[in-house]
Amino acid sequence: MQRFEYQQVRMGVETRLVVYAPDEACAVAACRAAYHRISELEAKMSDYRPDSELMLLCQRAVNRWVRVSRELFYVLWRAQKLAAQTAGAFDITLGPLVLLWREARRTKQLPDEATLNEAKARVGWQKLELSLRRRAVRLAIAHMRLDLGGIAKGYACDEALRTLKRFGIRRALVQMGGDLVTGEPPPEQSGWRIEVPGLDGQVQTLWLCRRALATSGSTEQYVEIGGKRYAHLIDPRTGLGLTRLTLARVQAPDGITADSLATAACIMGAEGIDQLKRLYPHATIEVQTRD
Ligand code: ADP
Ligand code: MG
Repeated sequence: MQRFEYQQVRMGVETRLVVYAPDEACAVAACRAAYHRISELEAKMSDYRPDSELMLLCQRAVNRWVRVSRELFYVLWRAQKLAAQTAGAFDITLGPLVLLWREARRTKQLPDEATLNEAKARVGWQKLELSLRRRAVRLAIAHMRLDLGGIAKGYACDEALRTLKRFGIRRALVQMGGDLVTGEPPPEQSGWRIEVPGLDGQVQTLWLCRRALATSGSTEQYVEIGGKRYAHLIDPRTGLGLTRLTLARVQAPDGITADSLATAACIMGAEGIDQLKRLYPHATIEVQTRD
């Protein structure tokens, strides 16, 4: 068994594959398929592409049921479940507010109140309906915008790992930015050695095997306006980016769970996650916040 490592940009982040395979041809074939799988998911779930399945859905599903792909339905289903569990702290209908945040990052100005209220009126997880029977989606009002930025990368990692497995590769690690999943460990190791900056600033070493790890927080993507930092994590209560310093780290059995819980935990803060811990007993949820 030899170690092979590849890196390419997918979904706007560095996407790293580390695999153990008998030879290079085998590693290349499997990793090519894994990258291809991530690209397929990007074409369905990106909000940067006007022609993604997700963006077309936002136009077509107003007041009527639209059938969607299996993958998109599953991610929407998991997102809505988490929205209900967190009383809307995790909310994929925040798209209009995410756009305002991106504009604020460009212009270094917060939206005025009228603009903010207009966007807020188009947000709300209860305005997004799912029908399991039809595998279909319906939106209650026009001009809604769905955003899977807090959950899709974790799912893409899971799918990449499954693709590698279909090619016979079980000893593998998939990382997309702050999201990472691991399969079986490298030969003669009990896990994948992962170094992460601890929540207290010190480097922590983790050994992961068949487990996912997600990090989310306000420390990397933010815009500074009037001495305050507004992170790319949107607080549905204010409609604005989180202003307190937050870092969340979640370990879970799969990437979709780790990714979405990490985003949710940031919004809920250290005070709010007890309920989440009870609902996800197989996850380890850590979050640190400072005002
Ligand atoms: P990153 O994508 O930077 O690794 P996250 O997984 O935490 O970090 O996702 C952040 C993204 O999630 C934002 O860019 C936005 O698209 C989306 N998002 C922001 N706030 C929320 C929220 N309250 N609920 C669900 N998704 C959110
Ligand atoms: Mg996330």
